[in-house]
Amino acid sequence: MRTITVIGGGFAGLVAAISCAEAGARVRLFEAHTTLGGRARATPPPYVAHDGPHVLYADGPWWAWLAERDLVGPCSAAPLRGFRFRHRGSLRRTPPAALGTVLARRWRKAPVDRSFAEWAGCPEAAALMGVATFDHDPGRLSAAFVWDRMRRVFAVPPPARYVTGGWNGLITRLAAHASARGVTITTGTRVVDLPSPPVIVATSLDAAARLLGTAFPAVESGRAVLLDLAVTAAPRDAFVVSDLDEAGWLERYTAPDPSLAPPGESLVQAQVPLRPGESRADGTARLEALVDAGLPGWRERVTWRREAVANRRTGALDLPGQTWRDRPAVDRGDGVFLAGDMVAAPGLLSEVSFHSAVQAARLALTA
Ligand SMILES: Cc1cc2nc3c(=O)[nH]c(=O)nc-3n(C[C@H](O)[C@H](O)[C@H](O)COP(=O)(O)OP(=O)(O)OC[C@H]3O[C@@H](n4cnc5c(N)ncnc54)[C@H](O)[C@@H]3O)c2cc1C
Repeated sequence: MRTITVIGGGFAGLVAAISCAEAGARVRLFEAHTTLGGRARATPPPYVAHDGPHVLYADGPWWAWLAERDLVGPCSAAPLRGFRFRHRGSLRRTPPAALGTVLARRWRKAPVDRSFAEWAGCPEAAALMGVATFDHDPGRLSAAFVWDRMRRVFAVPPPARYVTGGWNGLITRLAAHASARGVTITTGTRVVDLPSPPVIVATSLDAAARLLGTAFPAVESGRAVLLDLAVTAAPRDAFVVSDLDEAGWLERYTAPDPSLAPPGESLVQAQVPLRPGESRADGTARLEALVDAGLPGWRERVTWRREAVANRRTGALDLPGQTWRDRPAVDRGDGVFLAGDMVAAPGLLSEVSFHSAVQAARLALTA
C-alpha cells in the first residue's frame, strides 16, 4: 500500500492517522504549528485556558472510540450546583417556565426546513444554544440542527466531561498512540502543495480550500468574543451563567477541575456571539457586563486575562432546509479526502471532525 499523508495535527488529523495506522497502513502526518492539537491547544500552566474545546460528551462517538483505546484519561463531570440564568437583566437560579417546558418535551422531533425560533416559539431556548452554536441568533438556524444539540447538551444527567489538566493531556495521549502504531509525525511544517494521494486534508475548511485550490460552497459558522479570566476565588461565584438575553455563556472551569489555576484562584471563560457588523470592543463590553452578573467584584480580583475572537472556528451551522449532508463532501475524488468540523459528517462540535476523520480514513484505505 502507498503511504497515506495526513495534513493537520488537530483531533481530526490524529484520529484519521490512528485509524489508518490501526488498519495496517503506512501513515505520515504534517502539522504546521510546532505543537499538535489545533484548536485543542491550551495555554501552559499555571493558567490552563483553552483555545477551543472544553468538554467531551460521554454519550457521543468520540468518547466510545477513546475509551476502547484507553485514551480518555481522568475526567470530571459538571458540579450540580452553581447554575444561573441571566434573564431580562436579572440573575436567577431556575430557568424561566417557558424554557423548562421546551426542555421537558424531549421526545419531540424538530423539522429540518423550519427555523428553531419558528418551531420552538421560545426566544430563551434559542439563546440557551449560544453555548454550542456561537451564533448571535441561534433561532435563525434549522430547528432540527438546534434541537438535536440542545437535547444532548442539556440532557439529565449532563453528559459533559472535563478532561483533567486540560485537553493537552488528551492530545499527548493521541499522539503517543499514533506514534506507537508507526505514524510518522512532523510538526512545524506547513504543507503548501497537495502531496500525491491518498491524502487526508484535516485542516480548517478555509485552509483546505487554499490547499485544494478550490472554493467550497459557503458554510455558516459562529463568531464570538471570548474572555479568559483568572480571579481570586469567591464563594458567591457562579459555576455557569447561561445568558438568555444575549446568547452568551460564562463557565468557571476550575469548579470541575481545580488543577487549571493555582490554589485559591478560579479560571473562567466567558463568551458572547458578535452581532453582524459589531466590533470586538462592543462585544467585549457586552461580555464584561455578563461577567459582572456572574462574578461580582471580578475587576478587583483579576490575576490573569486573555481575550480572543473565535471566527469560523466553532464548527458548521445548518440553516433551515440544510443538514450536514449539504456541507462539502469528505470524498473530493482522486484519492483526496477532507476531515474537520465544517464538512459533511454528523455530530456535535468536534464530533463532526471525529466522524469525518474516521470516514476519510476508511476511504483512504481503499483508495
Ligand atoms: C471557543 C471554542 C469552544 C469549543 N468548545 C468545544 C467543546 O467544548 N467540545 C467540543 O467537542 N468541541 C468544541 N469546540 C470545537 C472544537 O474545538 C473543534 O471542532 C475541533 O478542535 C476541530 O478539530 P480539527 O482537528 O478538525 O481542526 P483544528 O483543531 O483546527 O486542526 C487543524 C490543524 O491543521 C493545521 N494546519 C492547517 N493548515 C495546515 C497546513 N497547510 N499544513 C499543515 N498543517 C496545517 C492547523 O495548524 C491545526 O493544527 C470549540 C471550539 C471553539 C473555538
